[in-house]
Amino acid sequence: IQSLHAPFAESNLEDIRQMLMPRDKYDHKGSYGHALIIAGSYGMAGACALSAKAALRSGAGLVSVQCPTRCVEVLQVAIPEAMVIPDEVGHKHFAKPTLTGQFDAVAVGPGIGTHEMTQEALANLFATHEGPLVLDADALNIISQSPALLKNIPRGSVLTPHPKEFERLVGKTSNQFERLENLQALAVEHQIICLIKGANTAIGLPDGRVYFNPTGNPGMATGGSGDVLTGIITALMAQGYHAEEAAIVGVYVHGLAGDYAAEALGMTSLIASDIIAHLPKAFQKID
Ligand code: AMP
Ligand code: MG
Repeated sequence: IQSLHAPFAESNLEDIRQMLMPRDKYDHKGSYGHALIIAGSYGMAGACALSAKAALRSGAGLVSVQCPTRCVEVLQVAIPEAMVIPDEVGHKHFAKPTLTGQFDAVAVGPGIGTHEMTQEALANLFATHEGPLVLDADALNIISQSPALLKNIPRGSVLTPHPKEFERLVGKTSNQFERLENLQALAVEHQIICLIKGANTAIGLPDGRVYFNPTGNPGMATGGSGDVLTGIITALMAQGYHAEEAAIVGVYVHGLAGDYAAEALGMTSLIASDIIAHLPKAFQKID
């Protein structure tokens, strides 16, 4: 983060600390925003549970989840703090046209699948939502299937692909440099923030800068890890962090929580819920 003019930079603890917004004594839950997470499908209720819980542990004032009716009970039991909006159109899939006006940040993607109804619902969300979105997982896969959607992504949105999802979005590359060039080009052309997740997650910004994240470990290479990151970034945006800061801080905290989880449990046994369980320690460290 050293210089606005340096095209590449590495986030560090001091930079992250400087970006944090303090809490005021007289704040109330309305001060910390209302996050909406559209996630899950029949058999993938865990994806919304992980994202929603991570969002709650990352300081959002309120977290609502839109999930298929078949996932509602599971979610209410798993996370009593989350509010649930049942998708009674798709029953098993994301299909309901979503009114997003009342929310301060909206994420879509973890575990939603790529059903035709879901493709339509996503296109509809792009057309009706005002402000940036957090786009992950199957939302990205749907965009890859219908590249015309790329230009409809709201400006300033945060895309969180892992390398395979990134490759589906922009095509195969023969080396890492080409991949980073593609990242820069995608972020600049569409004025979005885009990650390539993994060791030293790269964060491409709309002005062409790319940040590399120093935290995290291979113990985090486990199902659901990415859903947790989506929840963290969405919660930060709900609290009023600019999307760029939410992406940089979110990726850093996610990795730090993963490092604490690995320290406590070892990399082999680490699962995504453990990252959430160590978010408090990570936020305490950067606070
Ligand atoms: P996903 O594939 O969507 O579940 O996302 C995996 C998450 O785990 C991303 O946030 C990655 O950055 C993180 N992760 C996976 N492998 C590693 C690794 N080798 N080092 C650090 N972080 C990793
Ligand atoms: Mg994922």
